[in-house]
Amino acid sequence: MINDLRPPAMEPAELIWRDGVPESARFGDVYFSRDDGLAETRYVFIERNGLPGRFAKLDRNSHFVIAETGFGTGLNFLATWAEWLAQRPDDQDHAILHFISVERYPLALADLEKALESWPGLQPLARELIENYPPLIKGTHRLVLGGGAIRLTLCFGDVLDAWNELEFVADAWFLDGFAPSLNPDMWLEKAIHQIRAHSQPGTTLATFTSVGRVRRALADEGFEMAKVPGFGRKREMLTGRLPTSEEVTAPTVGTDPIVIIGAGIAGAALARNLAERGVPVVLADQASGPGAGASGNDQGALYVKLGVEYNDQTELAATALCFSQRFYQRWQGEFWYPCGLLQLAATDQEQDRQKRFLERSSYPENLLAAVSPTEASRIAGIPVQCEGLWFPGSGWLQPARACKTLIEHPLIRTIFGFKADTLRWTDNHWVIQASDGRSLRAAKVVVAAGHESTALAPVPKGQSLRLKPIRGQVTRIPADGCRFPDVVICGTKYLNPAYDGSAITGATFDLRNDNPEPTPEGHQENLDQLRELLPSINISEHIQAEHLEGRVAFRCATHDYQPVAGPCPDNNEISRTGVYLLTGFGSKGLVWAPLLAEYLADRICQQPACLNTRLARRVETGRLYRNQLTV
Ligand code: SAM
Repeated sequence: MINDLRPPAMEPAELIWRDGVPESARFGDVYFSRDDGLAETRYVFIERNGLPGRFAKLDRNSHFVIAETGFGTGLNFLATWAEWLAQRPDDQDHAILHFISVERYPLALADLEKALESWPGLQPLARELIENYPPLIKGTHRLVLGGGAIRLTLCFGDVLDAWNELEFVADAWFLDGFAPSLNPDMWLEKAIHQIRAHSQPGTTLATFTSVGRVRRALADEGFEMAKVPGFGRKREMLTGRLPTSEEVTAPTVGTDPIVIIGAGIAGAALARNLAERGVPVVLADQASGPGAGASGNDQGALYVKLGVEYNDQTELAATALCFSQRFYQRWQGEFWYPCGLLQLAATDQEQDRQKRFLERSSYPENLLAAVSPTEASRIAGIPVQCEGLWFPGSGWLQPARACKTLIEHPLIRTIFGFKADTLRWTDNHWVIQASDGRSLRAAKVVVAAGHESTALAPVPKGQSLRLKPIRGQVTRIPADGCRFPDVVICGTKYLNPAYDGSAITGATFDLRNDNPEPTPEGHQENLDQLRELLPSINISEHIQAEHLEGRVAFRCATHDYQPVAGPCPDNNEISRTGVYLLTGFGSKGLVWAPLLAEYLADRICQQPACLNTRLARRVETGRLYRNQLTV
């Protein structure tokens, strides 16, 4: 089975257990010391990098970055997290520990759980890691833990690719990739060169090995290396430090409020993210409350369509889906209902697409699995005619409620009824002028106003932004009108499970229609396509399009149907930085918002980015600028 694995599935580590200690069958080495793994981790990595003192004296609102080669069982990570808590017990100081680790052969979840049972003292932290451990797919996974104080960037892939593709500067390194004689790849000069490239004066490193070749290679890169006594029976180990004459301190996040325009799911997710990092936010919207636009429906599915090939676009979508499933966990039952989602192959075209998708890629079953019509029917609780893909960790949300809940935070101030008209650089500030004469000033502004962002984002003369509104009408089906599924069903249209006496289906996709009111034709289209997708739900004859309720909203799509998150380009005419865009989510805002808010907050706060450079390039803002003369 493992030989059949295609990307993005990762080959899991094959473990041999001896006396409760896991050993790698591939490398023939232990993951941690047989004597006392936790004590060894503390001695080698935590103390020899001087972390207790460095953690303790870190400024409030600042951050510390540790990079590790070989995540393995996560023991080093958990011990470091525990040390962070010991040194910084105040959970309101907004300092963040970024821990970046790479793993070529990740442990299967069950193995991770078993390995971590050995450390009762680390238990609550181990549980949180296990609950957030990503499905084993290639790529960069950001885990937000400990209420946001701990941000683990876990790269499943080879060490060289990871260090090539990530942007960060480490304060300390844990070099822990099995002995160089057993795993020479991890200790190649190229890899050591990358370690230097991601370091700065004052960066330290520690490794259990004392091999001369490793010491010389690190010294050649400029590290002042020292041999010090090893742990337990090991005679020696290595430490290193990039010399500096002065102390380097990490930037702290500013305490000036950032203005976000737009209180839909994009703006709300970003406001929450920044606030939890200690950044005050002013969130302004023209409507009288949050989620008034495309994020205002009563039900929305957490859904993406993954591409047949595992290219950058598919990787971005899969990363966003996994991140959003983790992100919403904390609001389960409040506005998030992870009942699972079936993506049916309802047309010949989709059947062919899913067939090719399954031939070319492998995914772990906790992310998605192919299901027959019989299995799909059992899962859905209603007869289903076609096969499809089952996403057990997906489900549906109440988007309007999500927006409302996300912005409830003491560091978020909301201003509703504020219709921003212009954004100009005046007197060393960005000034946002509203139509009623009010204005807001800030050094940093994020435009998250859906298709209305076009009017606000700074665009040089003669250019425009390639954003367009796409009308979507949803229809509410009363509970006595049909048999509802137990899970979300997506095909040509989607249907949610019933909640509070009805369920939402939709949505239409009207490119050239700007009618803000629901129409009977729109409801009819939704009903007809639902009948075709799920004949067995028996939509009752008394359901008539002209009597149904619904809602219309305008999604914001980019020319390439990919989202956008990042700073607006700095060019001759707009020579001031500090304006960012977060929009273009189309009908997938619930999936895109959590990850891209995390990414944009990383950039605004100058912290390690949760997207690798390939994926960051896909969401950059520059591609949206079009010369109006060329079409
Ligand atoms: N730090 C880990 C812990 O706390 O449990 C133990 C790490 S273990 C000694 C070394 C790890 O490096 C293994 O999990 C192994 O799969 C991983 N590894 C080996 N070669 C690698 C490579 N080329 N790229 C990324 N990871 C690799």
